[in-house]
Amino acid sequence: MLAELVCFETSCRARYPVDRVLYSCPECGGLLEVDYTGTWPEAKVLQRRWRERRLQNHPLEQSGVWRYRELYPFVEDTSHVVTLREGNTPVLEAPLAASYAGLRRLGFKHQGFNPTGSFKDNGMTCGVTQAVRLGMRRVACVSTGNTSASMAAYASAAGLQSIIFIPYGNISYGKLAQALEYGARTLQVEANFDQILALVRVLAERLGIYLLNSINPFRIEGQKSIMVELMDQRDWQAPDWIVLPGGNLGNTSAFGKALREMKQLGLIERIPRLAVIQASGAAPFYDLVREPEGARLKAVEHPETLATAIKIGDPVSWPKALLEVKASGGVVEKVTEQEIADAKAQIGRCGIGCEPASAATLAGIRKLVEAGTIRSDEDVVAVLTGNVLKDPDYIYRYHTGQLKAPDGTFIRPTYGNQPVVAPNDADQIARLLE
Ligand SMILES: *Cc1c(COP(=O)(O)O)cnc(C)c1O
Ligand SMILES: [Zn+2]
Repeated sequence: MLAELVCFETSCRARYPVDRVLYSCPECGGLLEVDYTGTWPEAKVLQRRWRERRLQNHPLEQSGVWRYRELYPFVEDTSHVVTLREGNTPVLEAPLAASYAGLRRLGFKHQGFNPTGSFKDNGMTCGVTQAVRLGMRRVACVSTGNTSASMAAYASAAGLQSIIFIPYGNISYGKLAQALEYGARTLQVEANFDQILALVRVLAERLGIYLLNSINPFRIEGQKSIMVELMDQRDWQAPDWIVLPGGNLGNTSAFGKALREMKQLGLIERIPRLAVIQASGAAPFYDLVREPEGARLKAVEHPETLATAIKIGDPVSWPKALLEVKASGGVVEKVTEQEIADAKAQIGRCGIGCEPASAATLAGIRKLVEAGTIRSDEDVVAVLTGNVLKDPDYIYRYHTGQLKAPDGTFIRPTYGNQPVVAPNDADQIARLLE
């Protein structure tokens, strides 16, 4: 199988060798995509092979990403692979959340079960593997948190130095703590995400650092595994809807590409519809899909949301994501801070839990069911993108009525659960619990 980088712009479509260090098309500045030429193995053969690999102890087969490596054959030499046994995340039935959303059934594909607690690991294992293959010694990213936590872990596992650029004061402590613990050089820059991204693109070139931001096409390849593993877990029966939060829209791009490729290979019979949910204070993609055909994304200059993982005003992958949402007959919805917070508490009550950005999915489904876009008897899978412990501060504040939205108003603790201070006295405690 021949792997190449191809420019995503239909007017350009320039091709480049997969071992060139490129982040965007040198011809036109367009996004790059990994493209494969050759004959794919037969669907039935792959499905059987992937099942058999689950029984094996080799690190490659134990990874929920590399087990499906036939679908992203960009490395010939698997000795370059850097794996922390990412993927292997469960699909959890959530009856309580289903009834909250007005659905008969709802499944959560929980990416928070990953080694560093978010779906970024599915992509990062491929991104860092590519860095190793290119012979790079240093990697960097700009991040609202999870990308840096993940990159720091994989870089250290590979013996590479990692440099992290963080918007000052805009990251949850759980994520920052991970980056520090995994040994990344961490720079907190006094600028927003989009400004820092421009800065880092200049620095990467100057200092010979490999950039692992979400435009990195190899990370997108790795994130395809989330959909492949999901379909494997469902015995290749596609659901009606896949619901996910949208920030930089890398995941939307990856899911769409994976679904199209799986349909093309005959692994699934139909493509589920994508529903992308944004926070209302950072919803440029929501606005874009309501513009006439051919419109370009208008960046939100000051994105605002407590769901920091989707606090993105100028999502780099929007051209890919737009194509994927259209190709799947999908929709884009937006939800308020209150809706996210309440949905998150409901996911918690299922015994599942997730970080704020992930909960946008349930809030969005509820809205889409109410509007009649999603029917209550449809088969829906929502992707929970991050672990509940990523942002404990948010949780404590919500349950105790101290969570403040970016506009300064307090979020109502609709499903609040206050801790109670109790005296050291059995009778009084018994009375409290009656
Ligand atoms: C990165 C991230 C997102 C946003 O994903 P994009 O691919 O940037 O749209 C959502 N939730 C969590 C937990 C994340 O870490
Ligand atoms: Zn181009």
